[in-house]
Amino acid sequence: MNEVSAKRKVTLRCPFCLTLNTVDLGKSGDRPKCGNCKKPLLLDRPLKVGGEDFDRTVLGSEAPVLVDFYADWCAPCKYVAPLMDELAKTHEGTLLVVKIDTDQAPDLSQKFGIRSIPTVILFKDGEEVGRSVGFEPEKLRDMAEEAVRPG
Ligand SMILES: [Zn+2]
Repeated sequence: MNEVSAKRKVTLRCPFCLTLNTVDLGKSGDRPKCGNCKKPLLLDRPLKVGGEDFDRTVLGSEAPVLVDFYADWCAPCKYVAPLMDELAKTHEGTLLVVKIDTDQAPDLSQKFGIRSIPTVILFKDGEEVGRSVGFEPEKLRDMAEEAVRPG
């Protein structure tokens, strides 16, 4: 057993039937399915999280979580989105990548002092450990690398 096989339980809401599922991110290669509707839970792309799931999915995650605070009307957010796709794919199984529509979760924006978007926050063990504001591709890649580094 090495660090790569360490348990990384995360709680995710199925985008199809909205059932909450607990999956081991480290076993994403096994193509986890929703326990209710049996549709695949896709972990190689950012997952949409709302205010009601934030505590469980982001703060309760055993894996580091990169959270993209965005809005549909925000032009620079459209540059960050493909980068988040890339990071989710590159670090599938070690890093959870989620996105939050700030228009639908104003409480979260206030709680984390989001003054401009895009803002990307890295959480580890329920704590903020990194933040990027605006379009900072190098910083985001570094944050992701740092997050998944063992030890
Ligand atoms: Zn489902």
